[in-house]
Amino acid sequence: LSTASAPAQARAETPVEHHTQAEAIRVSDLHKSFGSLEVLKGVSLTAKQGDVVAIIGGSGSGKSTMLRCINFLETPNSGEIVIAGETVAMRPDGSPADRRQIERIRTRLAMVFQQFNLWTHRTLLENVIEVPVHVLKMPRSEAIHRAHELLARVGLGDKADAFPAFLSGGQQQRAAIARALAVDPNVMLFDEPTSALDPELVGEVLTVIRDLAAEGRTMLLVTHEMKFAREVANHVVYLFEGRIEEQGPPSEVFGNPKSERLKQFLSSVA
Ligand code: ADP
Ligand code: MG
Repeated sequence: LSTASAPAQARAETPVEHHTQAEAIRVSDLHKSFGSLEVLKGVSLTAKQGDVVAIIGGSGSGKSTMLRCINFLETPNSGEIVIAGETVAMRPDGSPADRRQIERIRTRLAMVFQQFNLWTHRTLLENVIEVPVHVLKMPRSEAIHRAHELLARVGLGDKADAFPAFLSGGQQQRAAIARALAVDPNVMLFDEPTSALDPELVGEVLTVIRDLAAEGRTMLLVTHEMKFAREVANHVVYLFEGRIEEQGPPSEVFGNPKSERLKQFLSSVA
């Protein structure tokens, strides 16, 4: 993968084989409050294998909280989460009933954060091999071999021994994507992966994400890059104050929005 490669083909919005694709993730009636603040008020969504679901919405609408609940970084109050066919066992209060199940399912998910969250005292190579070696118990030599391949894929083949602080934000985010890929996740969760970047560095990160989408990686992508969402996603979800206000294929959500709130939102970010 290089930034010089031709742009990936835009994906068909409704693949013919869609109905036969396995379900990668299903969230049903997710609720989450922080104290008296109800942030998620019953969110449901499904992504099949290979789907790219863009999640858009104003600041504070609950986008990050939704991804964090899916990745067990937050405990939902209620709702159901099914990942690769496995239902997350929850206690009545929404907390995980089975720690070992969470550890196992976590390795099927990989999250890429706005602020990269690389380990600053480790080289890029060490960042990428950490979870494969220590959590997945992959032999170190194999993890190193794969890490070099992944770093090369995101255009950082010559930076394996560099520390994050010596890299640009765009390079750090591409390294974070290589680290996420190292567990070969079923679903990748991106939370505004380009919003901390200087404008001139956004493109190189979007190129990497575009290529992952084109090769059929399943992803939930929170983004404020509407043009990009329209291009790579096959489904778009608009969140408003903790509820899905409107969703559909990008041509509909962006080209023919129904909800007044969505219309307003789209004109505010245009
Ligand atoms: P978005 O990502 O759409 O901007 P968030 O999910 O980050 O929105 O936040 C939704 C709301 O939840 C905001 O009002 C935010 O202040 C609040 N919130 C998020 N995380 C916490 C937390 N850990 N404790 C208290 N309030 C939180
Ligand atoms: Mg957020």
